[in-house]
This record gives sequence, structure tokens and C-alpha cells, in this order.
Amino acid sequence: MLHVALAERGYDIAITACDFGPFVRQRTVGRLALLVHDTNVTPHARCAEVHLRDVNFDVRRVEIPPGEGQKCLATASRLYDELAEMRADRQTLVVALGGGVVGDLAGFVAATYNRGLPFVQVPTTLLAMVDSSVGGKVGINHARGKNLIGAFWQPVGVWIDTTLLETLPDREYRSGLAEVVKYGVILDADFFGYLEGRVGELLARDAATLSAVIRRSCELKADVVRQDEREETGLRAVLNYGHTFGHAFEAVAGYGTWLHGEAVAAGMVCASRLAERLGRVDDVTTRRQRDLLAALGLPTRPDPAWPVEALVEAMRSDKKNVGGKLRFVLPSRLGACQLVGGVAEEEVRAVLA
Ligand code: NAD
Repeated sequence: MLHVALAERGYDIAITACDFGPFVRQRTVGRLALLVHDTNVTPHARCAEVHLRDVNFDVRRVEIPPGEGQKCLATASRLYDELAEMRADRQTLVVALGGGVVGDLAGFVAATYNRGLPFVQVPTTLLAMVDSSVGGKVGINHARGKNLIGAFWQPVGVWIDTTLLETLPDREYRSGLAEVVKYGVILDADFFGYLEGRVGELLARDAATLSAVIRRSCELKADVVRQDEREETGLRAVLNYGHTFGHAFEAVAGYGTWLHGEAVAAGMVCASRLAERLGRVDDVTTRRQRDLLAALGLPTRPDPAWPVEALVEAMRSDKKNVGGKLRFVLPSRLGACQLVGGVAEEEVRAVLA
């Protein structure tokens, strides 16, 4: 059990250590629960439903189609309708069982219905286990941009059962590993070294290695969130390492062509190369990242067919930019990084070329 220390909004993250029903019951007082999931995890959701009923929840299970397209107002509205029909009160629990899409969507609905309902995250992708279920960012997309409508709304608990990953497709799993590598690069050189020595176990989804890796990733993220919950001091922004390049790759490739973690993997290598050009790190720092990501089956450079100008244009609209100047999270060594502003576009073009 890990604790995210946020005073009265603090909460526990359980990593397969206890039964789901009692874990939820100890953190809630309500009788009603809305359980949201997508059609790819229906068996896992049915199982969770039984556990919730065992601890006296009256459960309404709502299944949505899979995919980023569901992070929209129309699906949120459908969930509001469900809550209204079941006569949800302030104590009604929302359970988000799924990847980052379901977590962000159901969390957003929990944050906004009746001025805020308690919610529990049950992440089922590696990305959700190590990243999106921790930290309280919830939201939906707008036609003009991803995650434009959202809130900070912390769950009352996160329940991580690594056996749920057994059904996760390999490409989705490897995409989640990119975020794990990210934590090593930005916050913990020893952890990065541990990952370098465990490539075989990681690819084989070895249970002990997975638990250790998920635990350390959650610890590192929780510590950043504790210090900068609402991304006000710039500290939380370091979690976006690789994302400025990565978002541009996702956008120019066409959303869905590359998975988020794949784009972040290539984005991290580009950001490290940019740091090299600016004299901030040596080439070994970049090479170690590239070698580890490649060994994990992740891309380490953008598709040469993507026009450099289109990529730079996409980066100009990044949320981290200030006053029209490009800003990047750049490593200063393995295990440490900084938010760097005023980066010249020529340097970025040189990296992309
Ligand atoms: P996802 O939720 O779309 O899940 C990926 C795919 O895997 C989906 O098709 C899903 O149905 C399927 N799936 C999930 N669990 C499975 C399982 N156990 N077995 C079989 N199939 C399974 O994608 P994701 O990568 O988990 O999350 C991406 C989303 O997370 C994006 O919307 C992104 O914006 C968001 N995100 C949020 C935060 C945050 O802090 N809130 C952080 C990072 C990413």
C-alpha cells in the first residue's frame, strides 16, 4: 500500500495486496455505485461488480465502447443520465475500471456531478497503473484539443491488480513501459539502471518485476503530485518529459496511428538529443535511453516521412509554451531534468531532421 500525501485529499494506492470490496468499503459510506468500463474489460468489470455487491453496494454497471473518442461530452452526458436515473446522492461512488480513457472520463463525471462524488480508480492498462490513475487529473476532449475540459479531482483510492494486465494487448503494454522509462530518466537514475537490467522480465511481464516497477513509478509520481498538485510551480510539468515532441508526433501521424507511449518514447530521445545540442547532457545519456526503449520494442525516432515544419507547427500549440517561445522538459543527467524555455526553433528542426 502506498499513500499519496495530500492532506484531506490524501489516498491510498493498493497494489494487489487486499480484496477489492473491503478496500472500497473502508473508504466510502454510500450504498450506490456506478461502475464504468469499456467492452474490452467486461470480464474484469463483472468480477469487480460481484466484489462491490459483496460489501453491500447497489451497483449499476455501465459499458461504453473502447477508444479515445469516448472521452467526450456526449458520453459524459450519458453517465450523468445514469447517475440521475439511479438517484445518485453525494455519497454515490463512481468506479472507473479501465485504461486512461475510462479513468479520465468517469473521474470527470465524478468531479462534476452533484458538485463532486467519491471515485475509485481500477486501472487496467500499464499506462493507467503507472500514470493516469494517480494524481487527480480528470477530463474529456474538445474538438479543439485533448483534455481541454477537466478538473483536478482526487480519487478516494486506487486499486491496482497486475493480473488484469494479462489480457492487455502487447502493443498497449509496451506503450505503458515508455512512461515507466520516463520516470527513471527524469527522477531516478537507479530505477533507470534497474530497468536496463530487467528488459527480459519486463517483456515477459514477470509478476514480481511488474509489481516493483509499478510501485516505484507510483511512488515517484505521487511525490511530484504531493509537491505540486495543480501544476502551479512547474515541478509537475517535468512529468511531461518527451511529451512536447510526442504530442506533435501523435498529431502529425494522425491520432491513433502511434499510441501515446510510442510517441513519448521517440519524443524522449528527441528531447535528449535537443539537450545534447544545448550542451546540457552528453551523448551517453541519450544513447542509454534509446537503447533501453528500443530493447522494449518502442520507436526511438519520428517517421522520416513526417514534414519537419508540420511537427514544429504542432509544437507551437503545446500547452507548456509561454509567450510564443517553445518550452521543453530536458534532462540535465539521468535522474534529473528541468523545464527549459526560449528554445530556438532551429535547434528543434535540427533534431527532427
Ligand atoms: P485506453 O484507456 O484507450 O486503453 C487502451 C486500450 O486497451 C483500449 O482499447 C482498452 O479498451 C484496452 N484495454 C484496457 N485494459 C485492458 C485489459 N486489461 N485487457 C484488454 N484490453 C484492455 O488507453 P490508455 O493508454 O490506458 O490511456 C490513454 C488515455 O489516458 C488518454 O486519453 C490520455 O489523455 C490519458 N492520460 C491521462 C493522464 C492523467 O494524468 N489523467 C495521464 C496520462 C494519460
